[in-house]
Amino acid sequence: MNRKNIGELLLEYKLITEKDLQEGLEYQKKKKIRLGEALVELGKITDDDIEYVLSKQLSLPFVILNEKELDVQYIKTFPSELLIKNNFIPLYETETEIKIVTDDPFREELISELKRYTNKEISISVANGKKIKEILNKIFDSKSEILLHLKTLITKLNDTFFYRIDFLKNNNKISIFIYGCGIQKKYDEFSFQGDLVDEVNNSFFELGYSTIYNYLENNNKQLLSVYPISTENVSDSYETNQILVVSKFGLVLKDLSIIYKSNIFDKKNNLLKSDTIIPGYTHYCLNEVPNITNISLITTPDFINFENEFYFDGFIPEKCQCNGNGCEKCNNLGYNSFHLSTFINKKELIKLMDEKNGKN
Ligand SMILES: [Zn+2]
Repeated sequence: MNRKNIGELLLEYKLITEKDLQEGLEYQKKKKIRLGEALVELGKITDDDIEYVLSKQLSLPFVILNEKELDVQYIKTFPSELLIKNNFIPLYETETEIKIVTDDPFREELISELKRYTNKEISISVANGKKIKEILNKIFDSKSEILLHLKTLITKLNDTFFYRIDFLKNNNKISIFIYGCGIQKKYDEFSFQGDLVDEVNNSFFELGYSTIYNYLENNNKQLLSVYPISTENVSDSYETNQILVVSKFGLVLKDLSIIYKSNIFDKKNNLLKSDTIIPGYTHYCLNEVPNITNISLITTPDFINFENEFYFDGFIPEKCQCNGNGCEKCNNLGYNSFHLSTFINKKELIKLMDEKNGKN
């Protein structure tokens, strides 16, 4: 395959100027989208321009997708998230090769992910991106794109220090951020129409999580911060007179009364006060607390406001060798998570967190 990228091709065909390209690259970086998309969003080119250039320049066949000719059963053997996220359709495969159609043949990460997944050579043809999206939506009846994104995300977050998922809706676009221990990381962005709070909560329920959430609205912007609580893995292993911290996602509240209470989040102290243990969240239980009905629940280790030694069981951030850019080792999250299970005091914990973050 020709190694030129879409930017160079568009320049060659004089569809954009060098200045357009620079603008496109900056916009792409900022929005974390593909260069082609960036240039379309900036109004420099149209979808048709991209397809024209790709089919002309590359020796890749341009396919007019006809839904009736697609092998839906075959397509469904692939994970829907993989197809929808990357916007491609597998057409057929032989013993050694798999034929796919995409609107962007330059995505090496997609190609290598596919190679890993199928163990076959990938042969590419190009088609209209909107048409691909439309067909995938029809095949997977993906009423909720949020659900698809969350499904992958929530598994990734399970054994990490990230405990909150933020959804920022701006007009018809959703950005997903993950948050934990003072670190916020952009995870994904896609277009979305629908009711943010409803769809997000329904998606979590479908995946087996209850939610505590905080919701803010301002002009066209909506911000939904969700603390997922697993409804599985109930544990009775804590002792009420022991100082105890349990990490998020692991355990569950026994009565679900806390669901939909968005106002229990105490902004000042970043404390979630609860008369029920909400296992699944980092928990601090002090010796002075005589029984579990008085437990304070803290969502983040950076807001510990007491000096006594306590038992901590949770994850703290650890700097990854990729310096936050994302790599295979950190599951593209930019950080690794260090599991800590020990008696510790605030000073020591902060020192340890700094060490792990390379702040020493
Ligand atoms: Zn990494």
